[in-house]
Amino acid sequence: MRLIEHDGKSLLAQHGLHSAQHRLLEASDTVDFTSCSVPSVLKAQTLDGKRGKAGLIERVDGSNVASKAEQLRSRLAQLGLEPLLMLEPAVDIEQELYAAVRLDGSGRYPCILFSASGGMDVETHVDRVATFPIDPIRGVYPHDLLPLLRASQLSPAQWGNVARFLARMYDVFVAEDALLIEINPLAITQDGLVVALDAKIELDDSAAFRHPQRAKLRSSAIRESTTTDLEARAAADGIDLVELSGSVALLTSGAGLGMAVVDQLTDAGMHPANFVDAPGGAGLERKVEYVFELARHDRVKAVAVFILQTAQPLARATGALIRVLERHPLSKPLVVGLVAAAAGERGMTAEQAREQLAGYGAVVVFDLEELVQELRSRVPSR
Ligand code: GDP
Ligand code: MN
Repeated sequence: MRLIEHDGKSLLAQHGLHSAQHRLLEASDTVDFTSCSVPSVLKAQTLDGKRGKAGLIERVDGSNVASKAEQLRSRLAQLGLEPLLMLEPAVDIEQELYAAVRLDGSGRYPCILFSASGGMDVETHVDRVATFPIDPIRGVYPHDLLPLLRASQLSPAQWGNVARFLARMYDVFVAEDALLIEINPLAITQDGLVVALDAKIELDDSAAFRHPQRAKLRSSAIRESTTTDLEARAAADGIDLVELSGSVALLTSGAGLGMAVVDQLTDAGMHPANFVDAPGGAGLERKVEYVFELARHDRVKAVAVFILQTAQPLARATGALIRVLERHPLSKPLVVGLVAAAAGERGMTAEQAREQLAGYGAVVVFDLEELVQELRSRVPSR
């Protein structure tokens, strides 16, 4: 689960990583100058970043805090978001740094990311973000990080403070079972303190049973109010399914392949109705059921399944599809893409799978480009 900034900063504070004192403002809370030290910052508590660029962060003084709060709330309401705000004393920034701890997806190790030039434009100079891989058995000590800081443009006077902050961020990452802790900006104040001005934290849901206190976070309530019934049932079944607003219900073998299919669809002017992390295997049949159920929504105009089998038998995936088609016949077009390596075709070739699926009205193709073409002719453009 993703945390709003307020919850993220509170979590950091529990581990001794301080930020300015912050207060959550619910939609019904009145905001006046007595609640506000001068100057302060009002920040929308959305789950997406880039609030700075979206105009969702305002520096305020005592006299305009109420009107700025109203403006931000109506902006959020227009965007269909909860009008939740956070108020904190403004910090005088000397330098904005970028700091993060995350799992390296391909290397499968945790790492610290650091740049001495953080702030809202960090994406434009990612080349300045250095990566420090961590051995999870050993952990990380502040002195390990000195070479990283020496290579950055950070003044030596700050190396100690920043190294201690980063090492502790890693400890929080481990203790809280996080997937990402990103602090941008990590500010050096004019008094020379290191302060988290933002906190973007993503927690690993599969470790939720170890952290019962997570359920009490404001972020949990936000998530619940935005989770659809289908998403909740899929999650209870251990399936990560996210409903999206597009018209093509989608199932692919593997999330990486899913991204590629989504890109091709989007290039062809179509949009996915969902994203599902489907590592194939035993749960495939359940996933097919969820995706077919989603297909009953009016907004969904077609179902696309793209299966790429290298070692797993194509027969199994085909069987799963057919069993669900027999139980729940689809009233929308179904386009199936099948790509199998020789090992996947043991027991059933792609051609045989095509014949079987065709008996259930599915259009079966053998590459992604054809899949997109077949969908294109069946999905009205919007
Ligand atoms: P994001 O755009 O959603 O990542 O929001 P941030 O919390 O990172 O804020 C965006 C920008 O607002 C930061 O890069 C800062 O420059 C500025 N900002 C945030 N808090 C403060 C503060 O307390 N004082 C000052 N001077 N600027 C702030
Ligand atoms: Mn930020």
